[in-house]
Amino acid sequence: MATRSAVSRSGVGASRSWREDAACLHVDPELFFPSERGHGAAYELELARSVCARCPVRSECMLAALELRVTDGIWGGLTVAELRRVVALPRRQAS
Ligand code: SF4
Repeated sequence: MATRSAVSRSGVGASRSWREDAACLHVDPELFFPSERGHGAAYELELARSVCARCPVRSECMLAALELRVTDGIWGGLTVAELRRVVALPRRQAS
């Protein structure tokens, strides 16, 4: 299981090139592990999502999260549960 320090957005599971472009490169990694409960949870989640929304490497981040089989955190603006739902969506066939 990956730890918070091990899954820093500027950390493991990725090539150096995309990590350097991450919008969260100089943001406290704890922002991407918001509390699951409490008054500030929704605010923390939206704050993390706002950083991801302007990130040019969201796809790379999400792929890294899937490869690492992360169990918590915000990746590409999605929670792990949201990320798993996106991956589980059936793909359209090309016509
Ligand atoms: S998508 Fe979000 S968590 Fe992922 S690298 Fe970009 S800013 Fe960081």
